[in-house]
Amino acid sequence: MDAREGLSEYILENFQLALDEGWIEAYYQPVIRTMTRNLCGLEALARWNDPEKGLLSPAVFIPVLEEHRLIHKLDCRILELVCREYKQSVKQNEIFVPVSFNLSRLDFNLKDIPAFIDKTVLATGMPRDLINIEITESAVAEDPRFMKEQIDRLRTMGYQVWMDDFGSEYSSLNILKDFDFDELKIDMGFLSDTGDKSREIIISMVNMAKHLKMQTLAEGVETAEQANFLLHVGCEKMQGYFFGKPMPYEQCMLKLDDEGVEAEAPGMRKYYDDLGAVNVLDGSMLSGMSTQMDGLERSGIPFCLIEMTDEDADFMLTNESFRRELRSVGIESLPDAKERIQANTALASQLRSIMNKARISGRIETLDMSYEGHFCSARMRCVASWKNGCALLASFRNLSNNPAVLKEQKLNDALQVFFTLYDRVDLIDISEDSIQTLYNKNHVIKSIDLESFKETVDAFVEESIYFEDREKYRAFSDPETVRERLEQSTQGYLSERYRVRNLNGSFIWVVQVVVGMPSMGSTQVLSLVRSTTVVGDAQIGATSREAVEEGEKEAAVLWKNLVMNADIGLFWKDKNRRFKGANQTFLDYYGIQDVRELIGKNDEEMGWHVDPEPFRKDELRILERGESTSGVPGKCICKGSERDILASKVPLYRGDEISGLIGYFVDVTNQTTKAEHVELMSYIDSLTELLNMRGLLEESIRYTEGFLFRQKDYALIYLDIRQFRRFNQEYGREWANHLLVQVGEAIRNTLGVTGIAARTGGDQFAVLRQFEDEEEIRSLELDLNRAILNIGTVDGMPCTPYVSSAYVIYSEGSGLEQMYAQAKEKVRSKKSKNKADD
Ligand code: C2E
Ligand code: CA
Ligand code: CA
Repeated sequence: MDAREGLSEYILENFQLALDEGWIEAYYQPVIRTMTRNLCGLEALARWNDPEKGLLSPAVFIPVLEEHRLIHKLDCRILELVCREYKQSVKQNEIFVPVSFNLSRLDFNLKDIPAFIDKTVLATGMPRDLINIEITESAVAEDPRFMKEQIDRLRTMGYQVWMDDFGSEYSSLNILKDFDFDELKIDMGFLSDTGDKSREIIISMVNMAKHLKMQTLAEGVETAEQANFLLHVGCEKMQGYFFGKPMPYEQCMLKLDDEGVEAEAPGMRKYYDDLGAVNVLDGSMLSGMSTQMDGLERSGIPFCLIEMTDEDADFMLTNESFRRELRSVGIESLPDAKERIQANTALASQLRSIMNKARISGRIETLDMSYEGHFCSARMRCVASWKNGCALLASFRNLSNNPAVLKEQKLNDALQVFFTLYDRVDLIDISEDSIQTLYNKNHVIKSIDLESFKETVDAFVEESIYFEDREKYRAFSDPETVRERLEQSTQGYLSERYRVRNLNGSFIWVVQVVVGMPSMGSTQVLSLVRSTTVVGDAQIGATSREAVEEGEKEAAVLWKNLVMNADIGLFWKDKNRRFKGANQTFLDYYGIQDVRELIGKNDEEMGWHVDPEPFRKDELRILERGESTSGVPGKCICKGSERDILASKVPLYRGDEISGLIGYFVDVTNQTTKAEHVELMSYIDSLTELLNMRGLLEESIRYTEGFLFRQKDYALIYLDIRQFRRFNQEYGREWANHLLVQVGEAIRNTLGVTGIAARTGGDQFAVLRQFEDEEEIRSLELDLNRAILNIGTVDGMPCTPYVSSAYVIYSEGSGLEQMYAQAKEKVRSKKSKNKADD
C-alpha cells in the first residue's frame, strides 16, 4: 500500500471523527473590489487540520469524499461554520462581508441542498445575500437540465450563484447561455499565463459577462501588474495570493486590517455592483490594449477616475472621450490638466472645493463653469474613500459643443435646484423701489404685501428681524448702495445671515443672497432667502458648513448662467399672460430692440406662434392650476423663419396666489432631440427619458433630506400597466415601446416639475412627490391613472392602458427600496384580490 492510498484510507476512516472533533475548518480568502481595493467578500475553503497528519489540503481529501459520496457532509459543515462566524461578527458589531462557499455536483444528488442551505441561513438569522454559492462549470455540464432547476431554485430563494473556474475545462459558452449565473469567476489559469492571447481572452470574458449582466471575478491574482490589468479591463473583483492566502477568519481579518484594507460597507455593495454593471469602465478604457475593442470607443462617456488626497489630486484613469473633451477647451495633456486644477485661480479653487464637497457628501456634485469662453460642466462623485483620500469618478463636458437639448436638461435641473434650495425669492427693482415676491415656498418667512421695497424693509425690520441683527440687515438691504456693492463684490453676489421671526414666533437663522439681473439693466436684483435650519448646524461640522455655503454660491452662479446663458431665452409674465420682462437672449432671438416693445403684450399680440393655441392652453394650466410644463416642443416664427423650440414654464407665486409665470425655451432647430443625454445615460431610461431605477434612487436622497431637514414628507406612487404582456404579444414590441413612451409623457405632463418620475422596469413606473396632505397624493394617483388611460391610441391603434397603482409614504416606511417593494406588493395583493373577486 503506497502512501497515497494510505492517506485515502485514513481520510475515509477518520472523516466522521474529524467532523465531530472540529478538525474540519473553514479558511477564508479575501475577495477585493478592483476599483476600490476594499474587501468585498470572502471565499470559504475547507481545511482538515489533523492532529496527526497536520493541515490537509482539499486537493487531497475532497476527491476521496466525492468518491465515497460523503462530500455533502463536508460542504454542509463549511456552511455551518460560515454561519457561526456570522453570528460572532454580529455579536461583536463587526462588518460581515458576503461569503461564498463551494458546492460539488454530487451534493445535489446526495441531499436536498437548496433546502438545507436556506434552513441553515434562516436559522442563523442571516440575510440571504451574505451567502453566495460557487459551482464549477464541469458540475453543471454533466446534467444540465437538473442543475438548471437546482440553480434557479437557489436564485429564486435569493442566493447568488456563481460560476467557478470558468474557462478551466469545458468552457462551453452554451453554459452561460442556458444558465443564469450572477457572477463569473475567471479561472486563474488565464492570469498566470502571461501571453497576449490569455489577456485577450480575459478582456472578452469580462465584456461578455457584462453583456450577460454577470459580475466578474478573476482568480489567482499574484502580482500588482495583474491587478492593474484587471482594473483597466473593468473586471470588478479579484482574489489571489497578492491580497492574501486562505486563512482562519480572525487571522484573515487581522491581516487585512493591518494592511489598511477596509471592508466594504454593506450599503455600498449594491452601489458598486450597479456601477460595475453599468460598465463605466467600458470598452473605451481598453484603448491601446486591444484593437478589437475600438468599436466601443465611440460610445465612450467622458470619464476619469481621480485619486484625491488632502495634498494632491491625480488622474488614475481617463478615457479618450475625456481627453478629447479637455482638448476642446485647449487643455492638451493630463499633466496640463493637473496643473490647472492646482493653479492659484478662482476657478481652480472652486473646482477643488467641489471635489472636496463630493468627497464629503458622497453624492453627485456638479460645477458649471465658463472656461476660456466655453460653457463647461463637471460632474463627479466619490466612489471610494480611505483614510487619507478618495477616488472620484468624474465626467467633464464642454457643453458649448453639445446640442442645446443637453442645456435644456441642465437648466431644467438648475430651475429645480433653485426652487428646492430657496424658501423665498423676490424680484427687486431698485430705481422703481418695487418688490415682487416671485415665490414663497414654505412660508417660513412672513410675507409683507407692500409694493415699495423700502417700506418692506422697514416693516420687516420692525416685525421680524431679531433686534441684534437689525443694523446688519439694514446695511445689507440699503438700496442706495446695493448696486455699488454688487459691482465690487468678487463673487458677483452679496450674502448675509441674520435671525428672523418665523411663523411660530421664534427666531431662526436665514441666509439671504442678492444677485444682479444683468439683462434687465442693473436696476433689478433678485433676492433669495432660505432658512439655515435646513441643515441643522449641530449636525454638521465646520467642513460641511463650508459645503453649504458652496451651495449658495452655486445657486447664484446657476441663476446667473440661467439668465445670461447665450442659448436660453428667459421671460416672465403676469397673470394675464402678458410679458413682464425677458432676458437679453430672448430679446436678441426675436430681434427686439427694447424690452418695452414686449412688456404688457401677450403671445398672440406678438404674433409669433404658428399655432398659439397649445401655448395658450399650457399657460392657462400653469396660471390657473399651478402646474408646470417642461420641454414642450413647439414651433415659432423668428425673424421670418420657422423654428423648433422646447419650452418650459413654472408658476410664480405671490404669497399663496399665482401671480404669473416664468419660462424659458431653447431653439432645437436642426438638433437631434434625443440620444444625446449621454452623460446622464446611466440615470435615465433611454426609451422614455424618465429616470431609471438608479436615477430614482439618486433623487430619493434629496427627498429624504427634505423630510429629515424640513419635515417635508413625500410619497412614492408605483404604477404598473395592466396586461402589458398582451399588448406586447398582440401589437409587437415596437408598438408596445411607443405606448411606454406615451405613458412616460403622460406621467411627465401630469407631474410637471412638482415631482419626479422614473421607469423602473419594463412596464413599471414610479413617481416621487412631496406633500402637505395625503389627499394630494391620492388625487395625483388618480390623475396619473386617468392621464394614462386617456392615451386612447398609439400609432393609430386604439388601446386602453389600465394601470394598477399604489402609493407608500416615506414617514411610514423607510428607504426608497423598501417603499418601492411595499408599493409593488400592494399592487400585487390588489391584483390577486381582483382576481378572486372576478
Ligand atoms: P477553488 O474553489 O478554485 O479555490 C481556489 C483555490 O485556489 C484554493 O485552493 C486557493 O488556495 C487557491 N488559490 C487562491 N489564490 C491563489 C493564487 O493566487 N495562486 C495560486 N496558485 N492558488 C491560489 P484550495 O483551498 O487548495 O482549494 C482547492 C480546490 O478545492 C478549490 O478550488 C475547490 O474546488 C475545492 N474546495 C475547497 N474547499 C471546498 C469545499 O468546502 N467544498 C468543495 N466541494 N470543494 C472545495
Ligand atoms: Ca471556489
Ligand atoms: Ca475557482
